[in-house]
Amino acid sequence: MQSYLDTDIMFLKGVGEKRAKLLADEIGVRNFRDLMFYFPFRHIDRSRFYRIREFQGEMPLVQVKGRFISFQMEGEGAKKRLLGLFSDGEKLMQCVWFARADALRNVYRPGVDYVLFGKPTPYRGDFNMVHPEVTPYNPADPPRGFQGVYNMTEKMRKAGYSPKFIATIARNLIDNPRFETIGETLPPEVVDAYRLMPLRDALRNMHFPESAELLQRARERMKFEELFYLQLHILRFARARSRKFQGQIFARIGEKFNGFYADCLPFELTGAQKRVLKEIRADMRTGRQMNRLLQGDVGSGKTMVAFMSMLMAIDNGHQGALMAPTEILASQHYETISAWGAKIGVNVRLLTGSTRAKERREIHEGLLDGSIDIIVGTHALIEDSVRFRSLGLAVIDEQHRFGVAQRARMWAKSPVPPHVLVMTATPIPRTLAMTVYGDLDVSVIDELPPGRKPVETLLRYDENRMEVNRLLGRELAAGRQVYVVYPLIAENPKLELKSVETGYERICGIFPQYEVCFVHGRMKPEAKEAQMQRFVSGQARILVATTVIEVGVNVPNATVMLIENAERFGLSQLHQLRGRVGRGSDHSYCILVTRQSVGGDTRKRLGIMTQTTDGFLISEADMRLRGPGDMEGTQQSGLAFALNVASLATDGQILNYARQAALRILNAHPELVETPGDDGDRAEGELKISPASVDTLRRELCYRFKKTVDWSQIS
Ligand code: ADP
Ligand code: MG
Repeated sequence: MQSYLDTDIMFLKGVGEKRAKLLADEIGVRNFRDLMFYFPFRHIDRSRFYRIREFQGEMPLVQVKGRFISFQMEGEGAKKRLLGLFSDGEKLMQCVWFARADALRNVYRPGVDYVLFGKPTPYRGDFNMVHPEVTPYNPADPPRGFQGVYNMTEKMRKAGYSPKFIATIARNLIDNPRFETIGETLPPEVVDAYRLMPLRDALRNMHFPESAELLQRARERMKFEELFYLQLHILRFARARSRKFQGQIFARIGEKFNGFYADCLPFELTGAQKRVLKEIRADMRTGRQMNRLLQGDVGSGKTMVAFMSMLMAIDNGHQGALMAPTEILASQHYETISAWGAKIGVNVRLLTGSTRAKERREIHEGLLDGSIDIIVGTHALIEDSVRFRSLGLAVIDEQHRFGVAQRARMWAKSPVPPHVLVMTATPIPRTLAMTVYGDLDVSVIDELPPGRKPVETLLRYDENRMEVNRLLGRELAAGRQVYVVYPLIAENPKLELKSVETGYERICGIFPQYEVCFVHGRMKPEAKEAQMQRFVSGQARILVATTVIEVGVNVPNATVMLIENAERFGLSQLHQLRGRVGRGSDHSYCILVTRQSVGGDTRKRLGIMTQTTDGFLISEADMRLRGPGDMEGTQQSGLAFALNVASLATDGQILNYARQAALRILNAHPELVETPGDDGDRAEGELKISPASVDTLRRELCYRFKKTVDWSQIS
């Protein structure tokens, strides 16, 4: 028998053929299930008056009864706003109006009983209301209910449907006696183990909440369900993959590693470096192919970790490769690593696009016969002509410049696929890493080498131009170098933004006594490298650029990073740019220049940069402010957009539980992973479920992911 939820939406009371087509075309609602999962985007609770002290967590729109105590205007011009202090007789709350501040000032009166209606918004550890609706209190007004507000399209509105329409048909669906026949979409074992609200109650409360508390619990349940299936989906493919690819076993720590560690370390390793090396070592001895993401802020010392990990490969008779996104980065790595290697007789070579044919042949041979231990290079490393005798570890630096497909090509270079270590200085919030990268293990270097001076970050406005130029002049006169970054390559009449082209001329005009070079993304690679080289060598003192310089380049003598139109950049990007300075022993500056007129949110965003240098805090804030969809690393998956109720920015806790549940079920039910086999040393424990529940999982996975791509490709 077809289940109630599978019924075509056409057959729902109040719908019919014509409306069914509209619902399908406009909001993708084709059957009862689609409608039940088409949740209100917000809720209005007019069933009662709230007390201000009750505000907590994620609130619906609510009404509060009370009086204004006082009013106050703040700001000037476009920024002018009206602040009203409101009391419910027990506690105070601030109200803010940005629009029509002057007019409203004379409308609301202190001492009159009002009903405020709005969304309590967390603000400085308390709650305020922005633009609440204000009506005089009238005890004769009939009480109103607790309602959902649904998204409708323009076309639906034009066709004469009110937002109530969806509520009405959802009500019809839920009131039908057959609603009670709906089965769970989660295994009952999971519902019990994680004390979730049962599906029918959750659906009822999502659409027609009985109270704010029950709505909160219903949302938690639906978020859990969504994240649970996503994790289950990702993890089972990742497991299937890790079985397909056997890893090389690096059983021993040998002479090179120990020798280097004992006698040649140029500095004491930080605690974080040691811990990460242990994690990598543990991975590479399991027989499972390592796929590890190493996150560490700029300057945290990832190169040393990469080098010592490659020594583990060499000690076990294999080779190491380090791939960087640009020639400059590759040669910088080569210089560092070959100097370290020389101390212990490790043969290191460099292979890039500009390596000459004769040397290239020599390197190809050396890699095949095993006389080269470590190869450092660019994309040139993944060309088919490059073959290894036995590649044990491939390290990929600054991963976001490499696509997944390129990474996969590294795997095919050696009889047994190498372990893979991907290094990035763009911290990815954990929730995002877990979702986008699935079963990729994550190591974090969360400690900088001792003695680093934090970069002083200044927020300046166009009006402060003179002061900024003086600072630049002072640093240049002291022999230092300066980066100037613009959001655009060329001026665009439509955008009031500064560009590299005009910026270059301007800078040359202000500092005629210094050599200036420039790079941007539309230059030919050779031209770009040549310009960069002028700056790296110190010949050019000022580099004018777009964000192409973002990644990895190391010029310790550069002490100023000046960023024009800083409001145009994401926080993570600003953080990356800032990481280009503060690499030497001198005091360094990052100057963010923006217009005086930028909005409050932008100020807040840029303000975060002046308050912290912690890349993780910054990326978390970035995700909260911009949403996960815009974050580095998500574009290739598009995954973040698929979330319907849950948010990677705010539901980390639920995600943890959902992932744990998925892992425990996979541990207990290897039959859920396509390829049979055994890999189970994950410490999450097991959660056994009934055969009927296993069927539920298969059905739901199929329902949810039949249309999507194979996420296991994203590693
Ligand atoms: P990133 O993580 O940005 O790639 P690098 O590996 O380039 O950082 O390291 C930045 C600088 O810090 C280098 O000059 C490196 O030699 C130095 N360094 C790395 N680890 C330590 C340490 N434990 N103590 C002191 N200096 C270190
Ligand atoms: Mg680096």
